[in-house]
Amino acid sequence: SRGYVQDWPLLTPTLLDHAARVHGVGARIASRGVTQPHVIRHSSYGSLRMRALALAKAISMRLGISSGDNVATMAFNTTQHLELWYAIMGIGAVCHTLNPRYSHEQLIYIMQHAGDVALFFDGPLLVDDDPNLLHNIIPSLVRPAEGGYMPTLKHVVAMEDAQNAAPLRTAFDAAFASKDHAHFHCMEELVEWGLVGVPFSWFHGKDIRTLDENMPAGLCYTSGTTGRPKGVIYTHRSNVLHALACSSGSFYGWTVNDTCLPVVPLFHANAWAYAFCAPMAGVKLVFPGRSLDGRSLVDLLVAYKVTVTSGVPSVWHGVVQFLQQHTHICLPHLLVVGSGGSALPPVLLQYFRLNQRIGEGKCEVFQGWGMTELSPIGTISRIHVPLEPLPTPRIASTSVIEVFDDHKSSTTPPRDLHSCANWSEKQSSARLLRAGVPIYTVQLRIVEPDSSDKALPKELPWDDESVGQLQVRGAAVVRRYYGGVVAEDARDNDDTNNTTHHDDDRHNLTVDGWFDTGDLAAIDASGSIRIHDRVKDCIKSGGEWISSVDLEAAVWESLRGGIEVQGSSGATFLLREVCAIGIPHPRWEERPLLVVVVEKKGEQQPPSFVVPDDDARAIAMNIKEALLATVAKWWIPEHVVVMCAPLPKGSTGKVDKKLIRSQMINTVER
Ligand code: ADP
Repeated sequence: SRGYVQDWPLLTPTLLDHAARVHGVGARIASRGVTQPHVIRHSSYGSLRMRALALAKAISMRLGISSGDNVATMAFNTTQHLELWYAIMGIGAVCHTLNPRYSHEQLIYIMQHAGDVALFFDGPLLVDDDPNLLHNIIPSLVRPAEGGYMPTLKHVVAMEDAQNAAPLRTAFDAAFASKDHAHFHCMEELVEWGLVGVPFSWFHGKDIRTLDENMPAGLCYTSGTTGRPKGVIYTHRSNVLHALACSSGSFYGWTVNDTCLPVVPLFHANAWAYAFCAPMAGVKLVFPGRSLDGRSLVDLLVAYKVTVTSGVPSVWHGVVQFLQQHTHICLPHLLVVGSGGSALPPVLLQYFRLNQRIGEGKCEVFQGWGMTELSPIGTISRIHVPLEPLPTPRIASTSVIEVFDDHKSSTTPPRDLHSCANWSEKQSSARLLRAGVPIYTVQLRIVEPDSSDKALPKELPWDDESVGQLQVRGAAVVRRYYGGVVAEDARDNDDTNNTTHHDDDRHNLTVDGWFDTGDLAAIDASGSIRIHDRVKDCIKSGGEWISSVDLEAAVWESLRGGIEVQGSSGATFLLREVCAIGIPHPRWEERPLLVVVVEKKGEQQPPSFVVPDDDARAIAMNIKEALLATVAKWWIPEHVVVMCAPLPKGSTGKVDKKLIRSQMINTVER
């Protein structure tokens, strides 16, 4: 009576089964080592699955990890990390990715909150990482006398082979002699153990059809730029549905012929879905390990003829800078660059899109908007409007369609979604700089600011003019935070776990069941969104709002060639980064302040270089003057701070506006 189609729960390990069955043979995955960056390991989807199963067997049967347990990973982008993801999910446990760039306090808070039973980590994080990341954390977790003691944490596993793990084991055992501490293991030994004897099957060989697709599979905490970090649980079902939606040809559209270099880390926001989309499509993968600088990435892009890559804008700044300094290097195979996490600066779009050295001048660039709470993709700016309609053939008889000459001569829709017939470059760029249209699992609406508490918030029209709070709902959107209250009940109930997870009420569901993203946006008639700003980054001047994102874009737009600005004595500088923030003002409440990062054109700049005062003054004046042509006068900032050092970035590579704001308030005299 349940219908006529077989009932198969959507479980993530079946994606790897599919990849091994259909794309299983031959080297399809390359991975740069973390401990040994000069070693690049090749593997197939078949071997990845075999090793993941062996590891699943070892962690369940040797370490005693069970279904429902949270297992932490603190590691970079490698094949081993992906194997670990599937091993954990494949026994019904939850893969809890930790971002090594979070502060020690945040990491300890997050691990305790999650009650992780094991911690897998890349060796260098224990010994030589600055500032000895795990060395500072592990003692407080595993020593009963320390404040951070976590009795649940039973296993600490180095993702290394026996040789590299040996010194780590010695250091660990020497430091924690007590019997109570967690046990140290070596991941390669666990895999070897699992490969011997009776083979393992996912979920201990249970009939897949009896399992619940809504069981948790992944856990990721948001960076907590507001309040405490909050945990988002992904289920097997939400991961598979989200991956299917992303895979559509109008969004990621990967095929077996693609080679993908995912720069976005596996620990960031559910890895932008590629951990699931890649095996689903059988794409070739190139893992960069931990070396994400321009040179290391370009090395891999060239060597493996990478066709698609994705990461945050700060990564692309590094790549562009390297390519500009090494003009003989070409990337003819690179056809798609995806950017996301924060607004894509126009200069990056133009660099990749119009450069003959990249994709022979046909590289598609798109950006995605999303957040941890959305699994994480919300929208992608790949589709152009006006969409190419069906041609209108003349039907000559009831059964034969004759194709007349006029039909033949009509324009063929371009294969790539990126060029749109009859559009100027400016129109195309403007479209690509939007956040784009939602994937299938995401519904959007914008509501009048501050109306979301009401049972019937006022929805705003999709006219691209009205700016409102962006709200979403759908099959891969968070309903409640981990360990917190059901988000939709948050307003009525106290948190029973006594956690503070509803302290940031922008992340509760609205009364009518939508998730408020904390972003302000406009939507156009085609459903494409334009992110106006984060609510908290918007600058309030004299009762009116200035979008920091728009002001930053205006700076790029107003400069010659999108990047050059003159200093005092005829010297030319290249603009590298721009950041607009609001600083308090006695009369206007807030005024915008710009921080720009520049580099002297045509010169290798020593790290100690400081922009001379004269040049800084001239650059500031030139930027303000150029802005006069693009924005309203009251948007023009009184202060433009010129620097050489890169802007401070948060743990996910985004410009840390909160920190810049606090620094600037102290340095700028008003
Ligand atoms: P957090 O930074 O809060 O830890 P996420 O990494 O999930 O969490 O970031 C989500 C936020 O990043 C969004 O709410 C939005 O403000 C911003 N963001 C993501 N993609 C874009 C984009 N393409 N353009 C502008 N802002 C973006």
